[in-house]
Amino acid sequence: EGSEDDSHYFESYSGNDIHEIMLKDTVRTDGYRDFIYENKHLFEGKVVLDVGCGTGVLSMFCAKAGAKKVIAVDNSTIINKATANVFENSLDGVITCIRGKIEEVTLPVKQVDIIVSEWMGYVLLYEAMLDSVLFARDKYLAPGGLMVPSECKILIAAMHDSEYMNENVNFWNHVYGFSMTAMKEKIREDVVITGLNPSSLASEPVAFCHLSLHTIKTSDLTFTKPFQLSIKQNIESLDAFVIYFDTFFTTSRNQLVPENARAESWKDGEGGAAFTTGPFGKLTHWKQGVLLVEKKSGLLREGEAINGEVTYKKRSGNSREVEVEIEWKVESRKDKQVWYMR
Ligand code: SAH
Repeated sequence: EGSEDDSHYFESYSGNDIHEIMLKDTVRTDGYRDFIYENKHLFEGKVVLDVGCGTGVLSMFCAKAGAKKVIAVDNSTIINKATANVFENSLDGVITCIRGKIEEVTLPVKQVDIIVSEWMGYVLLYEAMLDSVLFARDKYLAPGGLMVPSECKILIAAMHDSEYMNENVNFWNHVYGFSMTAMKEKIREDVVITGLNPSSLASEPVAFCHLSLHTIKTSDLTFTKPFQLSIKQNIESLDAFVIYFDTFFTTSRNQLVPENARAESWKDGEGGAAFTTGPFGKLTHWKQGVLLVEKKSGLLREGEAINGEVTYKKRSGNSREVEVEIEWKVESRKDKQVWYMR
């Protein structure tokens, strides 16, 4: 529970800016829209719950797709704008907006057929909003009901990018003729959110975590998972790990996305959809997470493997923040580091 920080959290969603950024993220918003509009048969006549409706955009997509009733819940004051938006578009006969935490509100129905939500955060789990969505699923989703989206994968890749390192780290060695290395002290402590080019990657990305929204439990959101990366070409050092996520929308809860499916190439005959937040796709507002490594690795050769384990946990003291620990091995060299997404 993020109770200790909740008022600040919900205030951060009260202004226009954050919603404008999300709505203008076309990878994100088109992704939801296309899935909903291209699968109207799933929504026709159904009761839908929108967890964290913000401006109400997803609720309005569902209403347009033929939902019988949409319940739009948000605990931020943005709900007042959602109510107005729904009214202005004459969808108030279908959509009911309710202010409150999904954990606390009283809904006008006992069960819903579909839960739609855009809960994803930086490196996927920052904000810990998925906990609230799982709460809503367990309390309100009818047996056989559908989660939209239905699956997320978290991916990791190795990074080597001298230009990035020069601009962002070594920059502090020479600032207008002064050395400011103290400025570098904490640079490797936090996950850096930035958009990378594919050329920054020193390995193909691999998925180390698959979260199937229909079945996961809150306890699955703290985990340690193994990964293996293969270095693409000789590099003088491993500069960082890169973490991002792919999101999948399936048309049925029984349909599992194949283990090795990647959002940018996934073609699903059933009408499913997907989007990536990785460097091979169009940049999203989530960008990518860069986890700069502290110790110089030395030369890595093409084909060399990095074997490791990623641990995700909630940060003690603020459960909406994420602690990422990576333990890895290259040949016989072992390393371990912790980063925070805060
Ligand atoms: N669905 C909108 C907004 C997504 S942002 C869109 O796609 O554009 C996530 C929203 O969820 C925020 O407005 C936030 O206030 C809300 N939210 C997060 N946790 C919540 C909870 N537990 N109960 C109610 N609303 C929540």
